[in-house]
Amino acid sequence: MLKMIEYCKILRTICRLVRILRFTNNRKNVLEVLTEADKPLTIQQIKEKIRENMDISTIYRALDFLERNHFIESASFGKSMRFFFCQNKFNHFLYCEKCSSIHVFKDCAADLLEESVLKNHDFIINSHIFYFTGLCEKCKGEK
Ligand SMILES: [Zn+2]
Ligand SMILES: [Zn+2]
Repeated sequence: MLKMIEYCKILRTICRLVRILRFTNNRKNVLEVLTEADKPLTIQQIKEKIRENMDISTIYRALDFLERNHFIESASFGKSMRFFFCQNKFNHFLYCEKCSSIHVFKDCAADLLEESVLKNHDFIINSHIFYFTGLCEKCKGEK
């Protein structure tokens, strides 16, 4: 049987290790930015929103960790523009092919589709991502 004091010491060490290994400040900062964001963000946009100075490769590693552990997800559009967002926070996007901006919308046509997909495929649907590509409000007027 471990003495209580030893037990506490071990527990403290484990907690510290878990913090160090799993949820570093970097990961926390990146997740915070994405939690507060009202739309998906690129790495560059994430970098601009983080108060502390973090280099791109550190942010990339944090994003990779968060995505592998299902805190966030990402979607790529057009010229390999990759956007990151909290899991299941956004499903529907408008991607501008000219300025690479992204907008989100709520209206969903998936319910109708879901029925026919389930009828025709042996598949369990967990979530979906849907997007239109085109020209945003700003870009559609320009030539
Ligand atoms: Zn645009
Ligand atoms: Zn939908």
